[in-house]
Amino acid sequence: MNLFHKTAAGLGLACATGALLAQSTVGTVFGYGDFNAESKVEQQFLAIPDAKLAGQHLKTLTAQPHLSATPEDRATADYVAQKFRAAGLETEIVPYRVLLNRPIEQRVEAYNTAGKLLMSGPTKEHVEGDRFQDNPRVTMPFNGSSASGDVTGEAVYANYGRIEDFDQLAAQHIDLKGKIVVVRYGQNFRGIKVYLAEQRGAIGVLIYSDPQDDGYFKGDPWPIGPWRPETGVQSGSVQNLSRYSGDPETPGVASTPELPDSARLPADKTGNQPSIPSIPLSYHDAAPILNALSGPGAPQGWQGALPFRYHLGGTGVLVHIVSKQDYALRTIWDVIGKVKGSEYPDEWVVAGNHRDAWIYGAVDPSSGTAAMLEAVHGVGGLLKQGWRPKRTLVFGSWDAEEQGLIGSTEWVEDHAKALEHAVAYFNVDVAVSGPEFSASAVPSLRQFVREVTRAVPSPLGTTVYDQWKRAPKEVNPNRTSDAADKTGEVRLGDLGSGSDFTPFFQHVGVPSTDIGSEGPYGVYHSVFDNYDWFVQNADPHFVYLEQMAKVLGLEAVRMADADVLPYDFVTYADSIAMYAGAAKRKAQEAGLSGMDFSQLEAADLRFLAAAQRVHARQLAPAGDMTTLGKLNNALRLTESAFISEEGLPNRPWYRHIVFAPGEFTGYAAVVIPGVSEAIDNRDQQRAKAQLEVLTRAVDRAAATLNAVQ
Ligand SMILES: [Zn+2]
Repeated sequence: MNLFHKTAAGLGLACATGALLAQSTVGTVFGYGDFNAESKVEQQFLAIPDAKLAGQHLKTLTAQPHLSATPEDRATADYVAQKFRAAGLETEIVPYRVLLNRPIEQRVEAYNTAGKLLMSGPTKEHVEGDRFQDNPRVTMPFNGSSASGDVTGEAVYANYGRIEDFDQLAAQHIDLKGKIVVVRYGQNFRGIKVYLAEQRGAIGVLIYSDPQDDGYFKGDPWPIGPWRPETGVQSGSVQNLSRYSGDPETPGVASTPELPDSARLPADKTGNQPSIPSIPLSYHDAAPILNALSGPGAPQGWQGALPFRYHLGGTGVLVHIVSKQDYALRTIWDVIGKVKGSEYPDEWVVAGNHRDAWIYGAVDPSSGTAAMLEAVHGVGGLLKQGWRPKRTLVFGSWDAEEQGLIGSTEWVEDHAKALEHAVAYFNVDVAVSGPEFSASAVPSLRQFVREVTRAVPSPLGTTVYDQWKRAPKEVNPNRTSDAADKTGEVRLGDLGSGSDFTPFFQHVGVPSTDIGSEGPYGVYHSVFDNYDWFVQNADPHFVYLEQMAKVLGLEAVRMADADVLPYDFVTYADSIAMYAGAAKRKAQEAGLSGMDFSQLEAADLRFLAAAQRVHARQLAPAGDMTTLGKLNNALRLTESAFISEEGLPNRPWYRHIVFAPGEFTGYAAVVIPGVSEAIDNRDQQRAKAQLEVLTRAVDRAAATLNAVQ
């Protein structure tokens, strides 16, 4: 997954403390007393990741389609395990037994009011001259978690399938009961489109790729350019990711092979699986349906790039959907490689990337796997020179991410206790689709990511940081701006969901980052995301794979060896103040006059003061291991203060009270979600209760830092 690096929509956040933090980078590195020895380690590390080898990994990993739980997926697990072992990592392949669907049969037919057949499909993905598309091991495009069904109904066009789109249809008196909803990809997570359609009474959903969003409207389609061709289809999961991720039948519990079936919940009762069928379509197949819809004309913002006027429908086109899905418990394989820490073995630094793909997945996720393997190669080089990390390094190659972050979620649920001491999770998914670096992170690790990118050369001769800062704003239309903020610092996004950081960060509270290097990428989750596309469009000489290997590896090495954990709580306190300010304005606009933010503001000021005091100690760490160990414990505990045992309202699996995927967006983050979503629902009582939960958490964070001598 991981198409979007979205920041909190429209909040316009800016860090007010950039100037203060910038001091720490002049000649010193945050978290280190004397950086000289570590600097040598880092130089040795940076010399190892190799573009050519990364390209070879990519070629091997993408030779066959490797959907999770297939023999080809297992072969990629064996390849990764072999590379981990060669680097000297203590390596195991960890199986989980999880519920997954595969398509047996999928059919869509559409008729006009006179009963004339308008289309029948889905049409096979096909362009002139692609040498990967005809492999018999290619699975037909499908939605993970789609229900089986045989349904017929009038088609209605619902734009992107956002909550406001469905509200607009209701305002136009278009009833969705018994209808088939046609939505286009983009703007939110597809599982939310299906969830909302089902809530409004629809009996089936067709999700298509409009050329306006990632096709010819953007530029030349594959195989001429990078954009989606006429028959290109985006597969993807339609589980309700905003409820919980992972195996649908085991929320909060690891699906180990030993887990008895009696411990599994029925998937249709757990709230993250749709009960209506959905099928992904190309615009080749969607166009005849859209073209024949009658009813009111679509609002201007709903018009896509197909060469006719769009209408809302409800009349004009009858659609018949057949979806036969084979649901079964299937075995998936995570690959875990460890290097035991010499000083703090219980403090894990985890770096990970998923390995399974919808089809070949050259960009998503194999570019990430290739980069991670070269990062591991670099770590292996250090080990051979006698280096040992102070903290335990863990590399994870996750399976079944595409069906709902399943491999990472099950592993996190399996190791929840140990992960309470994990000091960071560094994610990469879509490592390279082009040259523009971007990152999302918890506020406490934003400065850390900036410092790491200052130490890594870019293929263009300067540093990754310099390129990042110079990057044009909207290269990738699917990405919000990472433009430098008011203080001149490069901006990072907030962590929403759509990739494997979710269980680490939002379920158990491990501070996380997510990095990528992006460019025009219109073949997401299609058969055309293959090796040839990658070489032609993303990174012909694999130099960005090398760059991303270095950034990921340096994140891990620098964190593993730090004297003091480089968590920047000044920025965290600052961010919370901004989130609170935005929520306060929103509450006023919503007419919730009984909301009092003063307690939260006071608590956050205490947190800020404590953070500033501790920040001074982090800038110049001194003392023996016991003293530093205590400080590190307190720093880690401060991150845990933002985890609430009860979790968020209606979705207790999500326990981070500052960041969650939006209930109705899925990829994009919502900040202070408990408070913010209660205000959206104009539920003052809940908003007040959630404000108290948040205030207590900020107070816990302040108290934890204040206990540090
Ligand atoms: Zn992915």
